[in-house]
Amino acid sequence: MPPGAGAYPVPVTDPTPGATAPERGRVVVLGCDGSWPGPGGACSGYLVSSGGTALWLDAGTGTFAALQLAMDPATLDALVVSHVHRDHWSDLADYVTWARHSGRGPARALRVFGPAGLAGSSGLAEVPELDWQVVADGDRVEVGGLGLGFSRTDHGPETLAVRIDDGARTLGYSADTGPGWDPRSLGPIDLFVCEATFTSEHEGTAGHLSGRQAGALAAEAGVGTLAVTHRWPTIDAGAVADEAAAAFGRAVVQLAPGTVLAW
Ligand SMILES: [Zn+2]
Ligand SMILES: [Zn+2]
Repeated sequence: MPPGAGAYPVPVTDPTPGATAPERGRVVVLGCDGSWPGPGGACSGYLVSSGGTALWLDAGTGTFAALQLAMDPATLDALVVSHVHRDHWSDLADYVTWARHSGRGPARALRVFGPAGLAGSSGLAEVPELDWQVVADGDRVEVGGLGLGFSRTDHGPETLAVRIDDGARTLGYSADTGPGWDPRSLGPIDLFVCEATFTSEHEGTAGHLSGRQAGALAAEAGVGTLAVTHRWPTIDAGAVADEAAAAFGRAVVQLAPGTVLAW
């Protein structure tokens, strides 16, 4: 399955540098390598936008550079960080340096939603460029025109999956998880961005999902469209997508940097 393939959502045109959030819901993949960046790659990070509200969802290694190609970071409404593993937040430090010294930073602090302990672990708890907001399992918050709901996953440190609702459609993001988490805890999901770190022969070796497990969870949850992500760079993309599609029962999207999906 080539990157971006699938009946729905369809890839849309590339974003214009400097553009602000569009009216239509979309996800721009800033990076999707699992756990470490592969050659020329970037770790987990997505620009999620709809109706003029823009969220940076996870700030993994390399994603701030890609974010600047997709929009003006000064117009972000918030950042959501799923957990304390560095492949999901390390570029937050680079955002702070940019906001402080580039002369292009926003006038107000960027709201950062994340689990307890993240601010302290990052070393950025006290910087004026960030407005930390602790969230936990079951919490719901509103950012602009988007409703966010959180669900704790099956992963080492406290890790929060998120459901994003723009009033018309819903996006679900698994963050990192093992097979003990149920996506139904997020509620109905139209587009499900789910981790599939490796293939089935690696199941049980780390707190992550295989393509087969991701497909099975998505099928049980009845999601509309499945897009898999967080693949270790040493794992074959086609093999992960193929076993995910087999378990899901229909085609899936294997995310790649620059993939743009409508939701
Ligand atoms: Zn990760
Ligand atoms: Zn993790």
